[in-house]
Amino acid sequence: MNSLTTLPRERQCHIQLFKIVYGHSKCPKCLNRLLFRRSYAWCSICRKKHSVRAATWFRGSNLSLQQLWLLLWCWQRQKGVGSTTDIVGVSYPTVRRWFRRFRALVPASSLQLSGIVEVDESFFGKRRYGQQTIVVGAIERDTRRVRLQIVPDRAQDSLELFLTKTVARSAHITTDAHTGYHDLEFYGYSHERCNHSNGHFGPTNMIENFWGVLKRSLRRLYGKLTLVDLRNILREWEQRQNQPDLFYNPYNYLKATLVQD
Ligand SMILES: [Zn+2]
Repeated sequence: MNSLTTLPRERQCHIQLFKIVYGHSKCPKCLNRLLFRRSYAWCSICRKKHSVRAATWFRGSNLSLQQLWLLLWCWQRQKGVGSTTDIVGVSYPTVRRWFRRFRALVPASSLQLSGIVEVDESFFGKRRYGQQTIVVGAIERDTRRVRLQIVPDRAQDSLELFLTKTVARSAHITTDAHTGYHDLEFYGYSHERCNHSNGHFGPTNMIENFWGVLKRSLRRLYGKLTLVDLRNILREWEQRQNQPDLFYNPYNYLKATLVQD
């Protein structure tokens, strides 16, 4: 599904969902052909209704499957909550709730970055709401694959803990002149540092652009962010870069998130 005109009909959504959950669209008990109704599928041999929703994380929802497909599609395309309410025909709080849920189910990235990797920290959250949150990020220059993590502070220990977990030792790391990065060679990294106060920015341009794009999109989404929201958003953004397939269509996302429930 690449545009609204190719949105599958309710029955197709239902069949696709069966295929994702059971690997086929036949009766899970006897493999007879099923008759697909709006909220269940009927097996005429078992004389039983099968509800595929009950086996998924959207059990209990009264949205149609087509609405669910659309909500997912809007979230994958990074539509705003406002335009999504218009497209799907549900309320603003409903869209926010589902976007939150989609985000929370994005699988964590375990990727190790290599090659030339830009590293930087950034502050999130508005100062007037109290405590700001520090996020450290690393981005692979050739592929734009990225790792992000909330850290308690900008101390050397916190930054090194993040880097040794997310960046391969063979990597060439570029940073600003922050003292937290002074001992990276000790871990086997080659390290290039640039001094912003000299007007020298090049080596961390990509990660700084990334912060800008991420923060602009956060401003569109929320006034106030909880720590859990931010953690989930960071994971979503990692995977948008690292596993773009997940965001290509609703089917891919559902396949990756439904069965593990
Ligand atoms: Zn059956």
